[in-house]
Amino acid sequence: MIIDINPILKGEKTELEIGFDLEITEELDDIRFPDTFPVKGKVKDMAGYITLKLEADVKYTAACARCLVPITEQKSIVFEKTVVTNSIELQNEDNDDYITANDGYIDADEALIEQIVLELPLRHLCKEDCKGLCPVCGIDLNTDTCSCETKEADPRFDVLRKLLEDNKKN
Ligand SMILES: [Zn+2]
Ligand SMILES: [Zn+2]
Repeated sequence: MIIDINPILKGEKTELEIGFDLEITEELDDIRFPDTFPVKGKVKDMAGYITLKLEADVKYTAACARCLVPITEQKSIVFEKTVVTNSIELQNEDNDDYITANDGYIDADEALIEQIVLELPLRHLCKEDCKGLCPVCGIDLNTDTCSCETKEADPRFDVLRKLLEDNKKN
């Protein structure tokens, strides 16, 4: 949703309530958003500067990084940014604390999607101790076992073994 903050810029209002439903149809790094979700927020005149606060409970689906099983998660996104108008040249345009209002309009969808990308974990696991897939036969080790030789000797043990052997010699 595009928010018109002109009433605040003109001093007609000190606060604007925002409420809309957002549907994210694009896929972000294999993450999908199956449902439309409600977004709430506020634009506030803080006497000298303007803030935008947005919050949403975002439901998303992703594949487990180890076993590839699809998982559905929910995450609460809440953030606040200082609004700057496009007449101000930002020193650092990538500054995440700011959001630009172009001619008095803020793209709330874009701001929220950016924040979601920032906050979602990079790796998703179906459970903390997911055993993943066997790298040889591809079987799901959470539900099945196989007899593939996948255990490689831990090189740290080689060092330890050598130390022990050296000790024996002395
Ligand atoms: Zn898994
Ligand atoms: Zn296997």
